[in-house]
Amino acid sequence: MSVLLGCIGDDFTGSTDLAGFLVASGMRTIQLTGLPKEKIDLSGVDAVVISLKSRTQETSAAVADSLSALRWLQSYDCRQYYFKYCSTFDSTEKGNIGPVADALLDALKEGFTIACPSLPVNGRTVYNGYLFVNGVLLNESGMQHHPLTPMKDANLVRVLGRQTRGKVGLVDQATVSMGAEAIRKRYAELAESHRYAVVDTLFTKDLIEIGHASAELKLLTGGSGLAIGLADNFEKKGLFAKGPNAAQLDRVEGDALILSGSCSSATLEQVAVFKAGHPALQLDPLALHRGSQTLDQVMHWFETHRHRGPLMIYATDRPETIRRCQEELGIEQAGTIVERMFAEIARAASTLGVTRFIVAGGETSGAVVQALGIKAIKIGPPIAPGVPVTQALGDRPLLLALKSGNFGDRDFFAKALVMMR
Ligand code: ADP
Repeated sequence: MSVLLGCIGDDFTGSTDLAGFLVASGMRTIQLTGLPKEKIDLSGVDAVVISLKSRTQETSAAVADSLSALRWLQSYDCRQYYFKYCSTFDSTEKGNIGPVADALLDALKEGFTIACPSLPVNGRTVYNGYLFVNGVLLNESGMQHHPLTPMKDANLVRVLGRQTRGKVGLVDQATVSMGAEAIRKRYAELAESHRYAVVDTLFTKDLIEIGHASAELKLLTGGSGLAIGLADNFEKKGLFAKGPNAAQLDRVEGDALILSGSCSSATLEQVAVFKAGHPALQLDPLALHRGSQTLDQVMHWFETHRHRGPLMIYATDRPETIRRCQEELGIEQAGTIVERMFAEIARAASTLGVTRFIVAGGETSGAVVQALGIKAIKIGPPIAPGVPVTQALGDRPLLLALKSGNFGDRDFFAKALVMMR
């Protein structure tokens, strides 16, 4: 059976978020980290999410990578394709949302799609084409100061209009509130003369109607919330039956290890809470740089303490300490030294039989996933919103929880350990 939904995400954690929504709607979902080089056995998989770094790449590279991802997905004959971007429409003035969507439409020989970033559960709504974050216009929400993708205009019809060759229209809230049939009719009208329709969304129920109305669009573009009505469409067509076990992962024997490289305020608290009851070792970037803290020492500590595990190794520290370290080593070098050490620790620990990794930090997670050679993960149940348990697909059974910065409650690590048992 072919894959039902082929998704292309413009960053890693956003892709995991989408995969989480798909699993919650009953679809068995895997996420691929970067462009896959060869074919993978996708039997028993309903949805695939390929996570790229196309949000902030040079536009031509973002388009090229997205088209490669599409071609790979097309080789599995997906019923529908989905370009996932951020619910705050994060993009530079040049794109990359418009250029990537244009290229995907062309490649699929399609003339029309929607742009639906909204995620009401997280306070992202669209009204008359204006994007709000917790009731505040996007360009007043703080996003106007984003270092890479400053959003200075909340009107998505205008923003997308500047990024694309096509004409951008609007499906307004009055239409959306009438339900799927009315939305579908409006799509048909707009498709005569427009390439895109920004779709107003105030409530989660709107997303379900929009999802139902979009059953026949070959390409969808939006945030993760647009996914929630799609499983119903495939079910109605008899292509799929929602299973209760979409999020089920294998049981994995072996030790767990927590690696924390995030310095966000949520992680600081989570580390403090866990450290109070478990053995923990702190990495010191300056000592790593001087060579007075080494991989051998860290792994010696690991082996002598592992009987008292689960253990935590962390670099997480307070902003003033980080600043001092960055002044001495430079921001980039400080980050790289720590990430490289976490990568080496993960590799060494895996050789010593650690099979469950809980990693805090987006960049830190990327370094660990790469070090462990992980190309694909199956998405399991959520530990916290946006942070599912995942299982690496490959020869060796491995469970992972990858948490970026501010996600999770203060007892996140303990919760993750329980859920990964
Ligand atoms: P988050 O998801 O919270 O942004 P990341 O892992 O993406 O976390 O980023 C944190 C960055 O800070 C990483 O590059 C990490 O190596 C670096 N880092 C962690 N601890 C320290 C430290 N004590 N001093 C300097 N840099 C650090």
